[in-house]
Amino acid sequence: MLSSFKGIVDNPISRRMLRHLTSHCYKDGASRVEVAMDYHFDGRDSACLSCRMSSKLVGYVISKGTTTFGVTEADMRKTMRDPYWRKGLATVLRGIGSFGIRKPFVPGAPFQVVWNITRACNFKCLHCYENAGSKGSDELPTREIFLGLDKLSRLGVPVIALSGGEPTVHPDIVGIVRHAHDRGMFPAMATNGWRFRDADFVKRLKRAGLGYAEISIDGVNPETHDEFRGVEGSWDAAVTAAKNCVDQKLMTVIATTVTKKNLDEIPDLIGFCRDLKVDWLMLFNFVPTGRGKDVIDMDLEPREREALLELAYRETTNGGKLQILSTAPQFARVAKTLSTDHTKELIPTHFMNPTYDNSKLKGLADFIGGCGAGRFYLSIEPNGDIYPCVFFPHRPETLVGNIARDDLDPLWRRNELLAKLRDKDALKGNCGTCDNRFICGGCRARAVNYTGDPLAADPGCIRNLADWEALHGQTMISAEEEEPPSESVTP
Ligand code: SF4
Ligand code: SF4
Repeated sequence: MLSSFKGIVDNPISRRMLRHLTSHCYKDGASRVEVAMDYHFDGRDSACLSCRMSSKLVGYVISKGTTTFGVTEADMRKTMRDPYWRKGLATVLRGIGSFGIRKPFVPGAPFQVVWNITRACNFKCLHCYENAGSKGSDELPTREIFLGLDKLSRLGVPVIALSGGEPTVHPDIVGIVRHAHDRGMFPAMATNGWRFRDADFVKRLKRAGLGYAEISIDGVNPETHDEFRGVEGSWDAAVTAAKNCVDQKLMTVIATTVTKKNLDEIPDLIGFCRDLKVDWLMLFNFVPTGRGKDVIDMDLEPREREALLELAYRETTNGGKLQILSTAPQFARVAKTLSTDHTKELIPTHFMNPTYDNSKLKGLADFIGGCGAGRFYLSIEPNGDIYPCVFFPHRPETLVGNIARDDLDPLWRRNELLAKLRDKDALKGNCGTCDNRFICGGCRARAVNYTGDPLAADPGCIRNLADWEALHGQTMISAEEEEPPSESVTP
């Protein structure tokens, strides 16, 4: 079925026409593909003739796609009432135009951009990937952030995740959320929760358009958390923050970086998250970058990670509302291996493990799964520098561009590092020959931070135990070119 869909859509004529849709329509004030979808789904009156014509191709591709994947037109229309899904579908169509239907799939824009809008932080977390503290001297002013958000929206990015440092210490944080929302992007935020303990502040953010809040909690033990975070009372604040977000019906996620320090607390933390009634518990893979390099010995060994992921899978499939996910891409392999309920089909990805009655959708895993660095994600630093993922080290060879200076469309289509990261056959060591490389592929950030090579085998996987053992005890590669530690601001 997939190959017949590919035959219909992935040919030079269809792709040229889809590429045409990526252009901006000055008459309608949006990209042609978005106007065409509005016309297709809602019969938008104001669409110009060219966009109306384009909607015929969009309708044709959507109808072939729904038939291929066994989705009804009615279900599709229902889903597409959500403007963010619509933006996401537009990005998929652009991706088919630019890159064709390939494994792994490359959309026409990253689905999510994490923007570290400031290095300023009111905490002093031991494992901070950003080496945050005080505001950097080269940070983009708010006006430039707005212009950057405009660019991301024009490229077709559906989700913007604001992070830092601590995004809530930015004086214009509410305006930044509102600007992203007004440009049709779904605003998400990762926070330490200190300011979110104020329910009125959460309400203001929600009114500005915030849809997703990710709050860092390191365990059930307040002392463990406060020690990690370097601020007394930070655990209490984070728990209050989570409750405020649940009360405001924000999608609420507890983020926990799992290390040797808190590994034993995870089973209790799962129960605690259920009691808090949050939507997800996201188990972050420790990546030794930023200040994390100083605590590299806290990294889990591959066997510990494997056991953790097995626990997460068992708990997430036990029927409760809480989804337990991991940024470790090996989670998809674990999910595939442990999946026993064949009455439902599972799409093994590490960022979500949805189950479907429809077996046709299962074939999508190889297209959408695996490490998304440079494919589904990009990250932006406070000075506008762009990297494939927030956990990549800040070195000249991993720099992709700059949001203020670069034209994003050619950068997304032609950047050499991004092209390398999108080729799973170029991976080295076991990752290159692994039959799970399309649903996993290893964490490229861990690979580059441990070895200096973004295509090396991920030493955190149990299948790469020999790489882990060979590296163990070796000094990390030099970080001289990266930013020095900075002082923090007071909470
Ligand atoms: S060997 Fe690489 S691709 Fe295979 S499961 Fe391990 S990390 Fe993933
Ligand atoms: S490098 Fe890939 S797997 Fe690792 S954190 Fe980034 S996107 Fe996730």
